[in-house]
Amino acid sequence: MSTSLKHSTSVSSLASMDKGANNDDISLSSLHSHFAHRTAANMVLGPAGPMSGYQSHMRAENRPRQNDVNMERVDNDEERRLRNQPKAKRKKRKNMITANLSGTRYEVIRQMVEHIGFSVAKDDDPTSFLLWNDAFVSTEKISDLKPYQRINHFPGMGEVTRKDNLARNMMKMAKAKPEEYNFVPRTWILPSDYNIIQNYMKDLKAHKKSKTFIVKPSNGAQGHGISLYKNLEKIPAQEHFIVQEYVEKPLLMDGYKFDLRIYVLVTSCDPLRVFLFNDGLVRLSTEKYLPPSENNISHLFMHLTNYSVNKHNEFYEKGASLDAGSKRSIKSFNEYLRRNDYDVALLWRNISDMIVKTMIVAEPHILHAYRMCRPGAPAVSDSVCFEVLGFDVLIDRKLRPWLLEINRSPSFGTDEKIDFDIKSALIEDTIRLLNIKMSDKKKNMTAQKLEAQKRLFRPSKRVSDTEHMTEYDKKRASIERRKDELKELLARVKKAGAREEYENRNRGRFIRIFPCEDKPKQEKYIHLLEAAYTTFMSGRATSMHKEIQLIYNNKLKETDILDMIADCEADEQQGKMNFEGKPMTGSRGPKPLASMPSSEQFRGTDREEDDEESESASPPSTPYNRGTMSRPASVNSRISASRTPNGMGSRPNSGLVQPGGRPIGSVGPNQTRSRQAGGQKLTNIQRSNVDDNFLVNVIREREEELVRRTLQALNDMRIKFPGKSDQEADTILDKLYENWKFHKPRIASYWLVKLDSIKRRKVKCKIMMFLCFLSIQKGIYIFLSHDNFASFPCNVIML
Ligand code: ADP
Repeated sequence: MSTSLKHSTSVSSLASMDKGANNDDISLSSLHSHFAHRTAANMVLGPAGPMSGYQSHMRAENRPRQNDVNMERVDNDEERRLRNQPKAKRKKRKNMITANLSGTRYEVIRQMVEHIGFSVAKDDDPTSFLLWNDAFVSTEKISDLKPYQRINHFPGMGEVTRKDNLARNMMKMAKAKPEEYNFVPRTWILPSDYNIIQNYMKDLKAHKKSKTFIVKPSNGAQGHGISLYKNLEKIPAQEHFIVQEYVEKPLLMDGYKFDLRIYVLVTSCDPLRVFLFNDGLVRLSTEKYLPPSENNISHLFMHLTNYSVNKHNEFYEKGASLDAGSKRSIKSFNEYLRRNDYDVALLWRNISDMIVKTMIVAEPHILHAYRMCRPGAPAVSDSVCFEVLGFDVLIDRKLRPWLLEINRSPSFGTDEKIDFDIKSALIEDTIRLLNIKMSDKKKNMTAQKLEAQKRLFRPSKRVSDTEHMTEYDKKRASIERRKDELKELLARVKKAGAREEYENRNRGRFIRIFPCEDKPKQEKYIHLLEAAYTTFMSGRATSMHKEIQLIYNNKLKETDILDMIADCEADEQQGKMNFEGKPMTGSRGPKPLASMPSSEQFRGTDREEDDEESESASPPSTPYNRGTMSRPASVNSRISASRTPNGMGSRPNSGLVQPGGRPIGSVGPNQTRSRQAGGQKLTNIQRSNVDDNFLVNVIREREEELVRRTLQALNDMRIKFPGKSDQEADTILDKLYENWKFHKPRIASYWLVKLDSIKRRKVKCKIMMFLCFLSIQKGIYIFLSHDNFASFPCNVIML
């Protein structure tokens, strides 16, 4: 026989209630009319709002916290001082991190924001660093955020926070991984699963079995519209509800049913980072539990554990401490378990596992939605979204956790002391973990400028360009690409390392559960993540699997990547030497000039490089003496010195084309030696000082080396300036070299102003003397042309 709840919160009466709100502490009109004869408006917007007596009391009080009692006093003093200051003096506020809290009604968030040292911005300020909203945030709003901003919701999270979506996604995942996804009670979605339910009921009857089912609105919260059924035959077919098997044997505390409110923080989805808060709430029902029967099936205070329901029972006990009353702390619950010889560690391992698996189901949806909102956001960059989720978990008598639902706007109401203690710590630790810094805004502006400059100077790549590329150019381009990828990977690894270090120091009461430290477990999660992409995004699964391996399973360390970059550079050098020493067959690149030094000359100079390497370790103090016989040797010695500052990176016979013409990029015995030496060099340096300066120095050295090599080659080519003697031409180039830093921008801007890309092509270079990469980062090319010498000593094209 079907028995719906006889209480006022039956399906029909509660289904009409507000389905949007998701906060335990804010009761809605119909519930109030049933229980307390108060209006929702009074509760939500009344003079006290949702801020409880306890909270307002705490507001006036200096709340003592771990080590920073004084700090809080200072903060409050500072606030007061700022408020009393005339406007002109309030400038200091400008240098404070701001939070826009217009979207939240919770006082405890404002208190914690100020406690941390942020200032609360005006309601209409969209530029705040932190934005906190109780309600759903539109994807447009997330798209509009600047990279330094943080908002407390992810797009796509509804895939696990709406009851029907959670059930649907969990069912799909359970099909792929049944042994892993078995922690949600069996669920059906109405109206689509109506016939399946009816058949299931018939089956039960045939086997003379009886079960209890709980029926909940798909988008409900706070226990609204929930009913228990013994017989589902009478359930309405057209409603948007979920039907779930009722967990009939829950673990009890002092004879009462309870559930756990567990807080989970997701700080990023690209990559996924999940933290579990080391405390939470235990919410007890207010009528002693009995297995569901026709007599008690409608007893809300027995079967539902929601605070919003039970607070209306006269037997609801407001606890004076953390381990008594109808709301207790998870810490006290753990103590209770220990006292009763339960395996607490095992329980929390299982809960943590369940949370990670749930977030793995959410991740493909969140990442997809996030990338749609914020295209081009670099991976491992701090995500603009974060989310504090409230997991509702029921424990059965075998200590097995069951996931009931996930709240994306868990209540931050602080009716009782226990609420304030736990939720204030949760918010404080959350904000600290976000690592919001004043400098983020500036960094963002600088990055934007850099990006704009890069775009301006980027050479326009047309298909025809690649079609007409020489073999050498193609190889070089592929090495460049590889190098860029490695640099990106290096940046990722570095950033991930720095982030982890910060998290470890500032996680407060959070424990990171994904990625997890336990290697076999992490491997299992990676495998499940791949399965989730296969299940939910089959079209993109292959590329996502690769990404997952790269992001979560990257075993390369900074030193390895630096070595690989060095390898690329060695390849690049080797390729250049091969090209310079012996032009490739079929090459359509610039033809060697009659005046170009022969490969023999290069061989000679390169040998001298190696011979003098150890002597010439000090950087050059003056430009080389152009026009003298000794010049090439001294120049080359400096070149080699700059390439191998510690004398370890010698490249014997570099520039020699190997017999048989080894292709660029292939590893020969000489190169291998060079790599080993180079790798050794990098490793040593890394060991002593791993930081950005190293790469910068390597690039600078390379740049200097290339400048020297270019000028030396030009000199060897005996450039003739029209109307200038050799000596005058030498002087011009010497001056250029001596004061390169000064001339560089002028020459570049001269070229950019005078010649646009069309004109550039039109310039008939009678003799294109030499083309070289001057800077790896900026890509400066030097072209010397007799045509243009008259107007400027040298034309430098900055591409
Ligand atoms: P709401 O979002 O409306 O709070 P929940 O899914 O959290 O809905 O359910 C409300 C309460 O009902 C839970 O706190 C729990 O006590 C009880 N409950 C929900 N589902 C089950 C279930 N499958 N078995 C046993 N009790 C349940």
